[in-house]
Parts: sequence; C-alpha cells; structure tokens
Amino acid sequence: MSQLDSTAPEPSLWQKIWSAPEPEISSAGYGGELLVAGVRLLLVVVLLYFPIQELLHKPGGYDPLALLTTATLGLLLALVAYSATSRRWGKSWIGFATGILDVSLVSAMLAVFLILGRPEEATNSLGIFPIYFLAIAATSLRYDVRICILTGFLALVQYGAVIAYADWRWQVHSAAFAPLAQLAGATFIAATVVVRSRELRLLSTRDRFTGLLNRAVFSEQLEREVAFARREDGRFAVAMLDIDHFKKFNDTYGHAGGDEALRAVAKTLRDSCRATDVVARYGGEEFALILPGVMSGRATDLLERFRRVVAVKAITLPGRSKPASVTVSIGVAIWPDDGDTPADLLRCADQRLYQAKAEGRDRVIGPTPHHHPRPTEESRRVATSEVQLPIAPMVPPE
Ligand code: GH3
Ligand code: MG
Ligand code: MG
Repeated sequence: MSQLDSTAPEPSLWQKIWSAPEPEISSAGYGGELLVAGVRLLLVVVLLYFPIQELLHKPGGYDPLALLTTATLGLLLALVAYSATSRRWGKSWIGFATGILDVSLVSAMLAVFLILGRPEEATNSLGIFPIYFLAIAATSLRYDVRICILTGFLALVQYGAVIAYADWRWQVHSAAFAPLAQLAGATFIAATVVVRSRELRLLSTRDRFTGLLNRAVFSEQLEREVAFARREDGRFAVAMLDIDHFKKFNDTYGHAGGDEALRAVAKTLRDSCRATDVVARYGGEEFALILPGVMSGRATDLLERFRRVVAVKAITLPGRSKPASVTVSIGVAIWPDDGDTPADLLRCADQRLYQAKAEGRDRVIGPTPHHHPRPTEESRRVATSEVQLPIAPMVPPE
C-alpha cells in the first residue's frame, strides 16, 4: 500500500523498515539523491589530487598510477551516476545502485593498497576509510531505510574482507572490531534518521482524518507534474471529486455517519488508483486526483470507473444494520489541452465539476462530456459486475 490508511491496522516494524517509501517521501529522496550525486562528483575530483601529487613526486611510479586509474574510474562512474540521476533514469533503484557504488569505490581504493602490498595503508587509511561514513550518512538523504541498511551492510562486509585479507596475508593485526562497530553504529543512526524524518514528513503531508495527501502537498505535486510534463512532453489528467448531497447525508445519518462515508470514499479512491497517482483530500468532502501519463479519452473512462466503484461501495455505519452509499460528481481536465498552468487546470476541472452538479450529479464531465451520459439502471448493473462489488443503495434511516 503506497498511501497511509487511517483504517488499516498499524504496520509491523518489519513493514515500516522494509517497504518502498510513500510517493511524497520518494520525491524528497530524489532531491537528496541529486545532492549526493553532486557531492560525490566533487569528492572524487578532490581524491584525484592525491595520486596526481604522488605521481609528480615519483614520475613513472607504479603505485600512484594504479591509484590514479582507480580514482579516474571513480570519476567516470560518478559522472554516469550524476547524469542518470538528473535525467531520472531508474527512479526506483538508482538510490540502491549509487549506495553500492559509493561503498564499493571506497573498498576498491583500499583494495588497491592491498594489491600494491601496502596493508597498513589499507587497514589504517585516515584519508579513505572515513569516506565509508560519508557514504552511509548520504543514504539518509534518500529517505529509504532499505538503502541505508544495504549500504551499511555492504561497507561492513567489504571492509571486513579487506582487514581479514591483510591479517591473513601480512598478519596485520588491526583493532578490527572498533571500525566495524563504528560502521554498524553509523548505519543504525542513518536508518533511525530516515524512520524519524519519514514519520515527520508523513505528519506534515497527510490529512490525518482520511490518510490521503493534504491540499498543500497536492498543489506541490501538481506544480511538479506540470514542470515534468513540459520537460518530457508528457500528458496527465487532474480531477476534482465532490460527494453529492453530503449535507443531506449528514442530516440523515449524523455527523459520525458522514465521517464514516468520507473515510470509505477516501479508501475506495486510494484502492482504485495506481501507486503513481496522487490522491488528496482537497477540503471538506472534496477530493483531488492527478493521474500521470493519462490521455484525454482514457481519463474520462478511468474516472467513470471511479464514479461507479464509489457508487456501489457499501458503507457500513455505526449502529445501523443496513449499509448506505454515496455518489460523487467529477470534473476532469487534461494537461495541456485544458490549461497550461496548475491554476488553469484546476479552474477547468472545477468548472466541469460544477457542470456535473448542474446536470444532475453522479456523473463525470471531462473533455468528452457526452461520451458518458447519466448511468441508467442497466449501466449500473454492468458497472457492478465489472467491479465485483455489491450494489449498496442509499437506505432510508431506521
Ligand atoms: P452538492 O451535491 O451540491 O455537493 O451538495 P452538498 O450537500 O454535498 O454540498 P455542500 O458543499 O453544500 O455541503 C458539504 C457538506 O459536507 C457540509 C459539511 O457539513 C459536510 N462536511 C464537510 N467536511 C466534513 C467532515 O469532515 N465530516 C462530515 N461528517 N461532514 C463534512
Ligand atoms: Mg463541496
Ligand atoms: Mg458535495
């Protein structure tokens, strides 16, 4: 589940740690990844100074040449990582790849010292060993605990292998326990920072009542989606949903019943959306959606499906034996056909929502409004069989 669910049981510790971050957390992690990519590039350029300096003092020496080759390879990989990050290649796995890259680059430098027969420098390197800590600390900027743990574990295994080899080959008895414990400690701190900042971010981005994104985050995501679509020549749809006659529902079933209906609609929307869709509570009994990569005709079809799923959803109300149901009206706008800016798109979706209300409610108005007339009893039956949910007509109060 990608979104918070206020009605779902509390996730276990394992689920909290080993799950993909929520959409707003990964977009913050993307900013962190970009920062790390820049710092990595800078650091590798600085590291190049040492073998070059050695080479100037020992021209033609094999040792500085080997170190220079490793650092140059690191520079090339850092450039590839920077370019891939800024172009958003492999958005979901790039953090894992660069975490592995950072730690492996440090281990590769230490391994070069071993190959050169300089085990003391491999096991007591004051210049290179601390970069493990930078690599582990940097993982906390990606807001993904799995990356922290994987990177820290890899640092432990690789550095453990370096000191074990030095000990076996040259009997260099380093105080191995201390640096390994420090690496484990750094990993624990990075993972804890991620868990805590994720909790804080979720508190500031979610509507506590429904668990959906709040309006402020929706606006941020819409700005981001417009910028992304402009750059990549993409398409996306924005939809505004409003529950029909909700005042009457409250009057009929009480405020607690209305609250239950709001949560049920929120859950239905969330369950019907893809992980990449943005679902937000816009305010009161209004919801807003962003559907990335969706074209004009398909958007209206998709939202028509949402409308039907909501309409047939049986809402169990506290203290009542019979379930109730609600309907929603939906206005859809497509970027860029219906507006080039977030404000224009929202205005268009809102106007279409009011048109849907004016035309009788329980309908979707998109760029192709007459394609989806008001549902008849028969279309309701079809809808029900498609979505496999029982019909839950609005029942009179007991
Ligand atoms: P329409 O079909 O035109 O949208 O009619 P409506 O009655 O839904 O529209 P209106 O905007 O007049 O009323 C919205 C109602 O939603 C009023 C308010 O009491 C109710 N509402 C807003 N937020 C909440 C909430 O968090 N819980 C409950 N129970 N009701 C809410
Ligand atoms: Mg309203
Ligand atoms: Mg309403």
